Amino acid sequence: MDHTPEKPYQQFLKGGGEMGELTRKFNWSSTVLGDPEQWPQSLLTTISIILNAKFPMFLWWGPQLIQFYNDAYRPSLGINGKHPKALGQRGADCWKEIWPVISPLIDQVMSGGESTWSQDQLIPIFRNDRLEDVYWTFSYAPVIGESGKPEGVLVICYETTNTVKSFRAVEEAKRELEFGIEAADLGTWDLNPLNGRFTGNNRLKEWFGLPLHDQIELSSAIEVMIPEDRERVAKAIQKAMQRGSDGNYDATYTIVNQHNKKRKTVKAKGKAMFDDEGNAYRFSGILQDITDDFAIEKRKDEFISVASHELKTPITSLNASMQILQKLVKTEVVSDRMRMFVGKANSNLKKLLHLLDDLLNVTKLQQGQLAMNRTRFNLAELVKDSFDHVNQDDSHDIILMGDAELMIDADYRRIDQVLVNFVNNAIKYSPQSKRIEVTISREGNNAKVAVRDFGIGISEEKLPHLFDRYYRVDSLGHQFSGLGLGLYISAEIIQMHEGKIGVESVRGECSTFWFTLPIQD
Ligand code: ADP
Repeated sequence: MDHTPEKPYQQFLKGGGEMGELTRKFNWSSTVLGDPEQWPQSLLTTISIILNAKFPMFLWWGPQLIQFYNDAYRPSLGINGKHPKALGQRGADCWKEIWPVISPLIDQVMSGGESTWSQDQLIPIFRNDRLEDVYWTFSYAPVIGESGKPEGVLVICYETTNTVKSFRAVEEAKRELEFGIEAADLGTWDLNPLNGRFTGNNRLKEWFGLPLHDQIELSSAIEVMIPEDRERVAKAIQKAMQRGSDGNYDATYTIVNQHNKKRKTVKAKGKAMFDDEGNAYRFSGILQDITDDFAIEKRKDEFISVASHELKTPITSLNASMQILQKLVKTEVVSDRMRMFVGKANSNLKKLLHLLDDLLNVTKLQQGQLAMNRTRFNLAELVKDSFDHVNQDDSHDIILMGDAELMIDADYRRIDQVLVNFVNNAIKYSPQSKRIEVTISREGNNAKVAVRDFGIGISEEKLPHLFDRYYRVDSLGHQFSGLGLGLYISAEIIQMHEGKIGVESVRGECSTFWFTLPIQD
């Protein structure tokens, strides 16, 4: 054990972790400062503060600006850089790369001038084997020596490189987002659920014809909508912000610009965010101008509505004549050729009736006029019955399996329509295979009917669109005829029954279309 009594100056060099250790061991006699025993009290006190501080600190002392620093400062010097050489080194030798930047600041402080303050200043330093862009917030302050004048410069600093970089990354992401919003011609909005005020980007305010500068009351934004849309949209907004909701908001409505009275149809999409107590604290989203698409879509719907009504009368009377003709063919003496042509005409007329039925149903659905007429019946009976209504010409074997006892409450004609559509599709889209399986099962409180074919199948990315209006996987190819309405109508019918509809498929192998209906035992 070393029993040499501790000298007073040693008290000031205590502690300080790695830098304390290095400072104590350093051969100071090799510098102009000489042995620490000779050091002035002002230097010893300052070093004691630096070594024991947890904030990054650095000191230049004396005319040669000999350097000291603490453990907290040390990481800023990186690996394989200036540390530990910087300890005891002359300032000008250590900081060659930035000396022209920092020496005027040091001179200012050493000559009795003001302390400096720099925030997020870029000072590239050599560390980690390269010149790195490093940002600092720092202050240079004088340390008054025994002479009563500044003898050293104390640097209290903080490296802000990560903060500056994160801030820049956020700014960059914001710029990219703004660019995307700009390029996509979108309006954006942000509603504060607490005070009901909302703000939007300038595009949205221009569309609404509202002042560009300030926030808007939600009620004045609602007033910009055409009267028939107001209640529906206000309800959708309320629903999205309600406790327990998934926060999703999706509404299409028409606005009338307050200045030029021009109409625009817009599609709004948004999401409400909820705090831990389940209260909405933010509700924001986008607005898309769909005026043109909406007018194309609307005209198409109107055309379909008019055309299908016009077609209905002649086709119905044609069907009546066909029924009579079929009876005559059965009872009268006619040639085989005649019988064959009547058969063909009848099967094509059936297809035409199906197409017309789809068109009429779409119109009814849009106008909310598809009425439901529920009765109680045996599901297997209905399924068997529906096989008589499909476009079957003995090309396929339809096999019915599963629960023959299930009773359900539903609209017989509408469920028949869904099944006929499923089975017709199964026949149409499996020209190379014969087998079609129809399975009835019970799953909890639901009855399930699944129609499986082993035909062309559907690729995975198309599956989510199958139940959309007018959607066809191969819309331009004319290999399979159709309007892309059957599944849309089926989905609406099943939804009206509070059931579910879905599909599983493997392209080139098989497809299973299914629906469920709630059972009332
Ligand atoms: P479509 O009149 O075109 O048959 P649907 O609404 O009934 O209209 O079906 C939409 C699309 O789904 C079809 O165009 C077809 O591409 C695809 N589809 C439906 N059923 C099947 C099936 N069983 N196998 C493969 N594709 C199918």
